[in-house]
Amino acid sequence: MKIKVRFPPSPTGNLHVGTTRTMIYNWLFAKQNKGEIVMRLEDTDTERSNKEFEADIMNSLKWLGLDWDGPVYRQSERTKLYRKYLEEFLVNKKAFWCNHSKEELEVENKNQIEAKEPPRHVCSHKQDNLETGVVIRVSVDSNSDRTISFNDRVKGKIEFKESLLGDFAIARNLDSALYHFAVVIDDIDMEISHIIRGDDHISNTPKHILIYEALDKPLPIFAHIPLVLGTDRSKLSKRHGATAVSAYKNDYLPEALFNFLGFLGYTFSKDIISKEEMVAEFELEKVHQSGAVFDIKKLDWINSQYIKKLPPEEFKKLANVPELPDEAVLIVTERLEKLSDIQNFNYLWEKPKYEKDVLQWKEMKPEEIQNSLLQSSFCAGVEIKKLGSKLDEIAKDNFGGDRGAVYWPLRVALSGKKKSPDPIEIIKILGPKETKERINEAKKKLES
Ligand code: GLU
Repeated sequence: MKIKVRFPPSPTGNLHVGTTRTMIYNWLFAKQNKGEIVMRLEDTDTERSNKEFEADIMNSLKWLGLDWDGPVYRQSERTKLYRKYLEEFLVNKKAFWCNHSKEELEVENKNQIEAKEPPRHVCSHKQDNLETGVVIRVSVDSNSDRTISFNDRVKGKIEFKESLLGDFAIARNLDSALYHFAVVIDDIDMEISHIIRGDDHISNTPKHILIYEALDKPLPIFAHIPLVLGTDRSKLSKRHGATAVSAYKNDYLPEALFNFLGFLGYTFSKDIISKEEMVAEFELEKVHQSGAVFDIKKLDWINSQYIKKLPPEEFKKLANVPELPDEAVLIVTERLEKLSDIQNFNYLWEKPKYEKDVLQWKEMKPEEIQNSLLQSSFCAGVEIKKLGSKLDEIAKDNFGGDRGAVYWPLRVALSGKKKSPDPIEIIKILGPKETKERINEAKKKLES
């Protein structure tokens, strides 16, 4: 069997990390089986779809390296095909025009909820053969005792009672098919073999099966994968933090986000894993059954591992810090979780800005700080290897062995920060001239 899967995003929002995780599993499955991926923008909701969201989706997919085969399809450009099948459905009485108003449906819905029945519309217009109406619905037998079942590759056997589906809507009119119809017609027309999608679509699947059957087409294989959850285990949404892939572009490497998302529903053999290794290991049947929590701390950690491996030139380009000296790249990449955190290290390429109070160590008096800085400045030219013991000596000879009395003011003079890598590391990068200048500036600050 030729394996063919699809990326079917709706351009009604930016590319969501949850949708992306689902696409990653489609991609891994397709690559592993030398199959194809169809890119299909599901823009039947013309009011909510727009070109900016479309551009965001395409750019984010490219950034992550999620490629597809063949052209980009848009459902809005395929209305003729849907129309042909809608007409066929109406002629064959597989579908009918329903003329119930929104208000009538609301009353029906309310009554069903009160009677503890699943909400659905059982239409009394089914036999009326209306020429037109509010919406086109598939005719479903509400007296049927059939159980529609399918064997889900992830969830196992799933069953639904046909009688509880109701006459579901498939088009607003002949030229505007709705999701259930457009998706099935496309999946048939594009010869999709495997439908791998979020498990929020499970309840749509029996409806889709009825459409396949009405057209006498073989069913594809379904695989419903668990949703991505926020830390409170509810469906991941904006209140948990950024949900758009594009919001992660400035801080995270695409390989790190890909690696992280791959784990949201699957356990690979090691935490840091390349795409190629994921392709080799992935098995649809081993996708987890229940939802996976989007844990930003894990993403940060994975990202830090990828940042560490970047060659200096690449890092400087991605973090947008051309002025960062090459010798400094290693000490920063070992400490960064997000690319934009590089700004905390700006003292490595420009003079630090700070208040003079920060120079104060414990109860040190201004004259003592001055003295400490003066002694340190004498060391600026000392061979790096010997610098540590020189500074320790200053502490011993002048401050009763309190190393903080030497290191603290020195660190602040060089970096403007209370926390930084070892001052000796900074001196190594700045060189003796710049080191001396910064210490002198700190001394001046104390005098002001
Ligand atoms: N366009 C749908 C969505 O974004 C995809 C539906 C499907 O995979 O069948 O949720």
